[in-house]
Amino acid sequence: MVDLSIPLLVAGAALPDLVDKPAAMVGIVDLYQSAGHSLLLLVVGFAVVFLRREWTPLWLGWASHLLLDAAHMLLNGRADDILFLAWPAIEHTPAVDLPPIAFFQHYLGTPSFYAEFVVWGLLGYVLIADGE
Ligand SMILES: [Zn+2]
Repeated sequence: MVDLSIPLLVAGAALPDLVDKPAAMVGIVDLYQSAGHSLLLLVVGFAVVFLRREWTPLWLGWASHLLLDAAHMLLNGRADDILFLAWPAIEHTPAVDLPPIAFFQHYLGTPSFYAEFVVWGLLGYVLIADGE
């Protein structure tokens, strides 16, 4: 049985942005979603998890990030931008490709912002109720 370590899950969930945002900000890549957001690399990571089962929570967090990024694009009417998952096999210019602060300002008020707000609220409620 694999231990689903919460810190490793969280680290995996943050990993794509921790890799891709700085890489784009310093000009290593042109897009804010590249290697860390690639489904191709996620598959490679899955193969690694077969050999190193203790990395499973890191991989699950990583996979959840890609799934939720794709979900927010669908919710915000940007279905074509899901092609970010095919980096580098498919070149795609996203409808929205902004540095982190500009993206956050753009994201406020979108449908997925409100959905995310509800999810975080429910999570906070569960954590507070669980602590009582
Ligand atoms: Zn992301």
